[in-house]
Amino acid sequence: MKKSDPIENFISLLSKIPGLGPRSARRATLFLLARKEFLLLPLYSALKNLVEDVSLCDTCGNISVGQTCKICMDPKRDHNIICVVEDVSDLWAIERAGAFKGVFHVLGGTLSAMDSIGPAEINISLLERRVSTQDNFQELILALNATLDGQTTSHYIADLFNGKNVKVTSLAKGVPIGGELDYLDEGTISAALHSRKDF
Ligand code: ZN
Repeated sequence: MKKSDPIENFISLLSKIPGLGPRSARRATLFLLARKEFLLLPLYSALKNLVEDVSLCDTCGNISVGQTCKICMDPKRDHNIICVVEDVSDLWAIERAGAFKGVFHVLGGTLSAMDSIGPAEINISLLERRVSTQDNFQELILALNATLDGQTTSHYIADLFNGKNVKVTSLAKGVPIGGELDYLDEGTISAALHSRKDF
């Protein structure tokens, strides 16, 4: 069997990364090959470490070095408040804001009728178990995207805990900080009106 060209093979793999088309992948490959010692070899070992050491936290589904992620192991965080997010990138966004001191649950996707993704395909059963086994559980915050699938998933999760004495909240939707009403779409304005609060 003919061995595939390592350069073409690398370019074709690299071009699968979102934001990197074949053209950028070719440029990046040449850039790396021209810097074998300083960049290609360190990248090689960094990739090896990613493959060998990083997996999913067995509590929350966050990416983690080791079985349990740093957030789940942190005794200073409030483990009785769980914020549910679709993806690790959403968890990172909330962490960057630095305003949340609870813990997370990463679903790894949303329910989607179009893509035939049901509850078994995302990390929901573990969430049910986490909430039901916690003695002093306080609040489940649904921080899913304001897309159709995100909202379907939020309703599904809220229904799961309906009547189980669990407080379920969701992020407020509406006018962004620094936003001008004139520039917002109708959906955002009506969501902002619905989630208005006392001044
Ligand atoms: Zn975790």
